[in-house]
Amino acid sequence: MNTHAKNINIAEVVANDIAHHFHPFTDHKAFHAAGGPRVMTQADGVWIWDANGNKMLDGMAGLWCVNVGYGRKELAEAAYQQMLDLPYYNTFFKTTTVPTTDLAAKISSVMPKRFQHIFFTNSGSESNDTIVRFVRHYWKLKGKPYRQHFIARTRGYHGSTMVAANLGGFQGMHEQGGTRFPGFHHVQQPYWYDFGGDKTPEEFGLEAAADVEKKILEVGPENVAAFIGEPIQGAAGVLIPPSTYWPEVQRICRKYGVLLISDEVICGFGRTGNWWGFQSLGFEPDIVPMAKGLSSGYQPIGAVAFSEAIIKEFFDLGGEFYHGMTYAGHPVAAAVALRNIEIIQREKLVEKTREIGPYFADALASLRDHPIVGETRSMGLIGAIELSSNKAKRIRFKDSGRVGTMCRDHCFKNGLIMRACWDTMVLSPPLVISKKEIDELVRLARVALDATYRDVKAEMA
Ligand code: PMP
Repeated sequence: MNTHAKNINIAEVVANDIAHHFHPFTDHKAFHAAGGPRVMTQADGVWIWDANGNKMLDGMAGLWCVNVGYGRKELAEAAYQQMLDLPYYNTFFKTTTVPTTDLAAKISSVMPKRFQHIFFTNSGSESNDTIVRFVRHYWKLKGKPYRQHFIARTRGYHGSTMVAANLGGFQGMHEQGGTRFPGFHHVQQPYWYDFGGDKTPEEFGLEAAADVEKKILEVGPENVAAFIGEPIQGAAGVLIPPSTYWPEVQRICRKYGVLLISDEVICGFGRTGNWWGFQSLGFEPDIVPMAKGLSSGYQPIGAVAFSEAIIKEFFDLGGEFYHGMTYAGHPVAAAVALRNIEIIQREKLVEKTREIGPYFADALASLRDHPIVGETRSMGLIGAIELSSNKAKRIRFKDSGRVGTMCRDHCFKNGLIMRACWDTMVLSPPLVISKKEIDELVRLARVALDATYRDVKAEMA
């Protein structure tokens, strides 16, 4: 099936990549030692091929983004047509383009009614940077310039730009490049598997939410601008909070007048079985950053939706907002995103995800009998498999991340892309995945788990 690869000189691509390509999130010494990159060349539906002809089931939809699956001709056609009509114009200074405006209206139409204004960016990181500037300026306009502080979660991921990395709760990122700005605070993640101990998930959910209130009081409620969280923390290992968590966080934020931001970069556009993760987790945010599934990764584009209550005040009180990117609302990206949302609607991919969610959950749960699987969990089509050295006691393998990486490498070798977040294996397949393909995904996962278990036993022997 891999028709593209035959014209590619793979050795040359690999050599050029090693010689010239500085990769993100990569240890280059280890990468070079391992012989350079795997070269991806072609994809269709949930399947992806590398240049050596290896076919893999992409259990991650790229980086949690290819919601409508690979190989969508009409998205290519939408881009082609828009490039012919108008390849670029900006949205500064009282101008717009047709797809950009159409997309703003379309996004509003798939959100709760209170979201009617959309600001465009090129990525999730830029969306979150935009929010920090917006929110701080908003409070200043309202005469509360001291409301500058943001509260987020440990191991929350909100992007890689300076501000987004500050919002994020990854220590490794904070240690590089001075991403420890004042005014960013982190609270406990609602991760029952690791931190819940003997409490029920519901009890633990309330306890984790109480940590938000504790932090608000510590910082001073009058100084707190907003709380940001992913409905389900993706990069932390698909942490699905107990049902008590988000409603309680919302109650606390409202109590102190703190804005609530739902980072929907992963959870948006159907991933959890609703259009938005906040609908699945039961809360009502004021501001919603999005990216990834907005274009299913076919074009780089992000956006932020603001509730009307806030945006009206901002427009009434403010003059010019000195913020914007050259490519914000890029017409080609917008045309593709618009068609992508039309596909999601036409093929009822949100409803389909909700329907197939329990099948996916059961399929993952069938792995619980495996000697190194401590827990499986999922919502819609996002899920996780916890690797454990002692299932009953929820004990982890030593050297966090080592066994997870072994498992991930076995997956790759055996035709499955499943990512490791430390020792939590995570999945986020395209929303078009069929039941048969879910069966195959789980079969391939078991093969990798078996191989990992063999390695672990060999180490102990
Ligand atoms: N927020 C969340 C929840 C994410 O998962 C990501 C990316 N994985 C981002 C923000 C950053 O998005 P981007 O990589 O497009 O900047």
